[in-house]
Amino acid sequence: MQTRQMKTILVKLLRWLTHPIFVFVALQIVWLTMIILWVVWFMSQQETLSKLSSIIGSTSTINPTTGIFTLVIGCVLLGIFLVGTVVLFVFTQIQSSLISQQKSFVSSVTHELRSPLSSLQLSFETLQRHQLPVTVRDKIFSMVEKDLERLSQLVERILIAGRLDRGIIDYKNQQDEIPLREIIQHVADQQRHMDESLSQRLKIDCSPDLVIGASRLALTIVLGNLLENAVKYSPAGAPIRVQVTIQEYELWISVEDAGIGLTSSEQRKIFRMFHRSPRAQKAAVPGTGLGLYIVKSIVNSMGGRIWVQSEGVGKGSRFTFALSRECILAS
Ligand code: ADP
Repeated sequence: MQTRQMKTILVKLLRWLTHPIFVFVALQIVWLTMIILWVVWFMSQQETLSKLSSIIGSTSTINPTTGIFTLVIGCVLLGIFLVGTVVLFVFTQIQSSLISQQKSFVSSVTHELRSPLSSLQLSFETLQRHQLPVTVRDKIFSMVEKDLERLSQLVERILIAGRLDRGIIDYKNQQDEIPLREIIQHVADQQRHMDESLSQRLKIDCSPDLVIGASRLALTIVLGNLLENAVKYSPAGAPIRVQVTIQEYELWISVEDAGIGLTSSEQRKIFRMFHRSPRAQKAAVPGTGLGLYIVKSIVNSMGGRIWVQSEGVGKGSRFTFALSRECILAS
């Protein structure tokens, strides 16, 4: 038992010691110390060096002003070199994390494409080869509908993420008159393919008289993604709550679940493009890591902001997005 523990500690230590950030920082410390030691040694030995030069009969002497000037220039150049290496290092770190995120995105998308496609193929073959009773045919048709919905949602998400990334879409100036409670209910109905019992577990706290001016499409995508995640990342039957509150300057819309929750480190990363938490991947929850990136970009393009709160693993999550209070047309 003890040797196993030692082994894991050693492996962890080795991984830590060979981590690029550690190696980079250690190298910077090593060469900075080396330069400082050299300079200190040179300054302290100046007298000896002068004596040595007079012994060997050299006529040139070291001018202290020139010496200090050279030292200052040397320090400035070293500073520039240091800043340059830090910039290059940060750049390569960003690139490598992007590459690994893209790899995980490709594998998620491949998986997301493969499962509905295989299911569609199976349904098609079953319908083609067998004479089936109407009830069974209807069941297969509804499965086909779900798979097609899943595929079109995936393609739609990739397209929207690309457009948002290039700054092509701007939802700020799109103003539809939206009865908020109605649209929340409508989005929840659209999400019923994820969970038939959604209407029983969902509670909507929103005045039926509240009407806002905003892009209907944007609001549908944002609410759809947040509700979908609330279903995906919480146990079947656990309550989900959508709450709308009017604050002093803003309108807050939050989606709260009693699911797997988020650690503070996960909370910092989940809005990044392609980011999926290892817990979600381990639990084989389907996804691409695009949903929250799209949600955040859309909310920003509506002039709003979004944040998440969670007490930690297993304690549920609450996603809130805020729009300017000026969007309220009636309440
Ligand atoms: P996807 O769900 O496709 O992985 P998202 O961008 O929607 O991508 O979410 C990113 C990550 O944030 C998820 O992989 C998951 O780890 C985490 N997450 C999102 N919503 C929730 C939630 N309601 N509860 C817990 N974790 C969540």
